[in-house]
Amino acid sequence: MKVLVTGGAGYIGSHTLKALRNEDIETLTFDNLSTGHEWALLGSKLFVGDLSDFESINKAILYFKPDAVMHFAASIQVGESVLNPLLYYTNNLKNTINLLNAMVKNNIEKVVFSSSAAVYGTPHNNNPVQEMCTNSPINPYGQTKLMTEKILSDMANAKQIKYIALRYFNAAGADKDIEIGQAYKFATHLITRALKTAKGEFEKLEIYGTDYPTPDGTCIRDYIHVGDLALAHVLSLKALFNNIKNEVFNVGYGNGYSVKEVISKVKKVTNIDFNVCSAPRREGDPPFLVADSSKIKQMLGWQPKYNDLEYIINTAWEWEKKLSKIQ
Ligand code: UDP
Repeated sequence: MKVLVTGGAGYIGSHTLKALRNEDIETLTFDNLSTGHEWALLGSKLFVGDLSDFESINKAILYFKPDAVMHFAASIQVGESVLNPLLYYTNNLKNTINLLNAMVKNNIEKVVFSSSAAVYGTPHNNNPVQEMCTNSPINPYGQTKLMTEKILSDMANAKQIKYIALRYFNAAGADKDIEIGQAYKFATHLITRALKTAKGEFEKLEIYGTDYPTPDGTCIRDYIHVGDLALAHVLSLKALFNNIKNEVFNVGYGNGYSVKEVISKVKKVTNIDFNVCSAPRREGDPPFLVADSSKIKQMLGWQPKYNDLEYIINTAWEWEKKLSKIQ
């Protein structure tokens, strides 16, 4: 089987590439290397191109003739999307339409799409969210993910495509062999920033909002190890070839940790007591976002292996230390 992977040089894409290779699935990464890294491919094939250029993605598809596509390439920072919405509507929506047009033109039907828990906006209560919960994103990033899901659904109705959309909760951690991990130049995600603060790259870690309606006043999230996300992609791909199609799945553990709890764990794992301070709320952040993932467990048999915040942080820390030597 051959899979074209957009954004395969990025964080979740590269971990999924590794998981696909372990299943002997042939891949071609399509990536503009704007935030991803060639070393993250661990030697697998790369086509350097940009999804803003229809001819480029069309050429990659004509050359590789994939049986399916995994679409990771996107801009992913909630805060940035609030400040620069057009960047998000262009990268995540317009460019995805180029990809979908190229797929239709070349009769490629199957796609696994990287969606996000951001599609839920602010859930009505502090219970794990199910896929059928009302969708009203509170930031442009979440809007682009929800709009893409709607496009996929409309195309599926028109019998042009078969899709599975995975709504990721907070991806974190690094490959169990510490060969790859998160390596953005401008890290914004909590665990990565906390680890970089422990390493001394930042003077202090800011907590964005300490007056949320949660037990300790800080936001609660469901942190999921990137290896379990990669597994969800492999299962989704196989499902598309077994007549499971046009489904949306949450991918998280169902455990919520507050920002303060995550920081304590990072201090414990690293054994470094770094500076932390309160800062204003970041726009676009819901107070509580935790997954109910029973659907993917039931329908795809997804069984997470790394459901342990300490393990997640530990792999990310090992990776951070290695990254200091690479960069
Ligand atoms: N956060 C924080 N300080 C940071 C980075 C993040 O307080 O330096 C908070 C952020 O406001 C959110 C949570 O940590 O409540 C998780 O944010 P992250 O950016 O990791 O992921 P998101 O939930 O936005 O996808």
